[in-house]
Amino acid sequence: MKHQCTIFAFLLGLMMAGQSFAQTPPYLSAELPVEERLEDLMGRMSLEEKVGQMCQYLGLEYLRQTEEIRKTQGVDPTSDAYSFYKGVKAADIEALVRQGLIGSFLHVDSYQEANTLQKLAEESPLKIPLLLGIDAIHGHGMYTPGATVFPTPIGLSSSWDTTMVEEVARVTAREMRATGFHWTFSPNVDVSRDPRWGRVGETFGEDAYLVGLMGAAMVRGYQGSDFSGQEEVLACAKHYLGGSQPLRGLNFSPMDISERSLRELWLPPYKAALDEGCYTVMAAHNEVNGVPCHANEYLLNDILRDEWGFKGFVVSDWTDIARLHNLHRVAPTRKEADILAVNNGMDMHMHGPLFFDSILEGVRAGRISESTIDKAARSILYAKFQMGLFVHRYVTDEQAAETLLAPAHRELALESARKSMVLLRNEGDLLPLAKDMNRVLVTGPNAHNATILGDWAVPQPEESLITVLEGIQAVVAEQTIVDHHPVADLRNITDEEIEQAVAKAREADVAILVVGENSLRHTWNERTCGENAARATLGLFGRQLELVQRVHATGTPTVVVLVNGRPLALPWCTAHVPAILEAWEPGLLGGQAVAEALFGVYSPSGKLTVSFPNSVGQIPCFYNYKPSSYYRSFADEETKVLYPFGHGLSYTQFEYTDLKVPANVEAGQTVPVSVTLANTGKMAGEEIVILYLNDEYSSVTTPVLEMKAFRRIALKPGESQVVRFELQPEQLMLLDKNLNRVLEPGTFEVKVGGLSGQFEVDPPR
Ligand code: BGC
Repeated sequence: MKHQCTIFAFLLGLMMAGQSFAQTPPYLSAELPVEERLEDLMGRMSLEEKVGQMCQYLGLEYLRQTEEIRKTQGVDPTSDAYSFYKGVKAADIEALVRQGLIGSFLHVDSYQEANTLQKLAEESPLKIPLLLGIDAIHGHGMYTPGATVFPTPIGLSSSWDTTMVEEVARVTAREMRATGFHWTFSPNVDVSRDPRWGRVGETFGEDAYLVGLMGAAMVRGYQGSDFSGQEEVLACAKHYLGGSQPLRGLNFSPMDISERSLRELWLPPYKAALDEGCYTVMAAHNEVNGVPCHANEYLLNDILRDEWGFKGFVVSDWTDIARLHNLHRVAPTRKEADILAVNNGMDMHMHGPLFFDSILEGVRAGRISESTIDKAARSILYAKFQMGLFVHRYVTDEQAAETLLAPAHRELALESARKSMVLLRNEGDLLPLAKDMNRVLVTGPNAHNATILGDWAVPQPEESLITVLEGIQAVVAEQTIVDHHPVADLRNITDEEIEQAVAKAREADVAILVVGENSLRHTWNERTCGENAARATLGLFGRQLELVQRVHATGTPTVVVLVNGRPLALPWCTAHVPAILEAWEPGLLGGQAVAEALFGVYSPSGKLTVSFPNSVGQIPCFYNYKPSSYYRSFADEETKVLYPFGHGLSYTQFEYTDLKVPANVEAGQTVPVSVTLANTGKMAGEEIVILYLNDEYSSVTTPVLEMKAFRRIALKPGESQVVRFELQPEQLMLLDKNLNRVLEPGTFEVKVGGLSGQFEVDPPR
C-alpha cells in the first residue's frame, strides 16, 4: 500500500511538471524574441488553425443589429455580406473562437465585446489572441458610443501639415488601443482623380506625392516605429489599386492603367506608405487591365512582395473575393474565387465563414500549397506577437474612460479642423464678419446637424459635437441675435423653407448658408456622398442652389459655407456669392472651427489638394496636366477649372520676393531654393508655400507643373522669413521611354508661391 502511494505521488509529480511545461511553451514566453515564439507556435498549429487565422468575422453585436434591421425593416444593410452569415448564430461564432478557428474581427461594437471575444480566444487550445480591426480613418469615429472624430482626410490634407496629420493618427491609435482595437483600415492612399466618385473625402487629394507624404505620416502615427508599443495599431494602405478614377466615377467600375501611369501616379503613394513600414494592404474592389485586384498576381505578388519586399499581409475588401465569382466573373463558383484569391496573394478574407471550408478543401486537394497558408498565417501571427497581444489582450473601463475624447484629443480635433478650412472666395473682404452685428441668419441643411462628421463615423453623443450653428452662437457678441432657420432635408427642401429663409434674410445683416452634402453612413439611403454614393452632376444637390439664389437676391450679404466630401462645380456661386468657405467635413468640433473662421478669430489657411471643376464635362481635371492637355478648347465653356489645386485665400496678404535658385547644378547634387515670404497684411496668418517644378524639355512628356515641396509658415503682420527648400536629385528624375528612372540634363523652371492657378501655362497656338 505504501509502495503504491509512492508510485502515485511520483506520477502526479510528472504530470504536474508536464502541465507546467504546457502552460509556458516558448511562444507564450514574452521574454523570447518574436521570431522564435512565432516559429514555435507555427510548429504547434494544425492546418485548420492556420486557415482560421486568415478568417475575419463581423462583430457579434453588429451582426445582431443587422439581423434585427433585416427582420424589422426588410432591408439588409450589409447586403451581400450578410449572405456569408446566413444561419450562423452568435453561439456558433463563439464556439469557433473557442476552438481557435477565427483570427480576427471587424466592427466589434464596444470594448466590453472586445474583452468577451478575447476571453473566448484565451480559452482556445493555443490561446491565440484576436486581431480586432475597424475603419478608424479620421479618428475612432466608427466606435460607439463616441470618440474623437477629426476632419475627413481631404480636409486633413488641405492643412498640408504632415506633422499634425501624424499626431491625428497617433491619437486615433491611442483611442483604438484603449478600446481593444489593433488595426485600422487606413490610410487611404488612392489618388483622387474623379470628383463624381463618392469617396474623394477619404483621400488626400489629386497629387500622388502629397498623398504619399500624408499616407506615410499617418502610418508613423498609427504604427510608431514598429507597432510594438501599447498605444500603437497596424495601419492598412488601401485600396490597392486605382479605384479612385473609376469609369463614370462609379465605385467598383474598371480601370485601365498603363505601366507608365502605374509607376508615375498610382504606385508611388503605396510605396511611400510601405517604406514607412505599413504592415497591411487592402485590395481594391475594381479590376486593373482586366484582372480584378483581389486576384491580381502582378500587383499583389510581383510588385508588392517581389519588387518591394512587403512582409506584411493583404486583406480582402468586404466581399470582394466572392465578387471574383458573382461580379467580375473570373471564377465559376465562390469556392473557386476563394482559391484564386489566395493563390494570387490574398492572406485574409474580411468575411471568414465559407472561405474557411474552401481554403481547407483547396489545400487538401493540392490546389493551394501549405506554404501559401503558412506564409499568410505567419505574417498575421507576427503582428499579434509584435503588438504584445498575447500579454495585453484586455482593456479596462478606466483605460477607455481616460482616453476617449481626452482634452488633448479634443484640442487636436479643433486645431485640425481650423487648419483644414479653405477660403475659396472673399470678394470685397466680406469676411471676417463683425461679431457684434444685430442679426445673423444661419440656415441651410448642414447648419445644425452631424454631417460635419463625414463618412466612417457613427452618431456621436450630442454633447461631444459642435454644429456650425452652435459654433456661431458661441462666437458672436452677446447682443447679436442668431436667427436659425432650419432646413430639414438636403434632398427635399420645401417651398415653405425657401420662402421663410428669404423673409428672414431680409431682416438680417448677413445670411450664412450652410449647404453641401451628406456622407453619414447611418443615413445610407439619404446620402449624397461617401462610399457608393457617386454623382452624375456636381452642383449643389437638390434645391440648395435655389435656396442660395433666393437668399442672395434679397441683397443681404451672403456667405456660403460648404460642408461636403468632394469638389463641387459651383459656377453660379463663384460668380455671385461674395464669400465661400470650404469646410469639408471638419469633424466633431468643426462647427467651432467654421464659426471662428467666419468671425475672424483666426485666418483660414488651408489650400485645396484637389481641383474644383467648373462642370462635369471638365473631368478629369488636375493641376499637373501634360502640355497638350488644353491645346484645344471646348466650344461651349472655358477650359479653366473653378478652383485649382493649391487655391486657398487668407484674411492677410503674403508677398513673395527674392526667389533664389542656382543657375547650374551638377547631376546628383541637391538643389537649394529659397524665397522671402512677408506678411504684408493686418492679421497674423499661416501660409502654405508651395514649390513647383517644370522640366522644360525632356525625352518623354512631363507635366506643366509638379509640386515638389511645401512649407507651412506662420507670420505676424509685418514679419517676414526666408523659406528654404532642398530638392533631392531624384525629385528631378523622370521615367524614360523604357521606364527607367533617369536624370536628364536640361533646364528646370522653379516656381514658388501660394497658388497653383497663377502658374497655369497656356500652350502655344
Ligand atoms: C470599404 C473599405 C472598408 C471596409 C470595411 C468596404 O466597403 O471599401 O474601405 O475598410 O468596407 O468596413
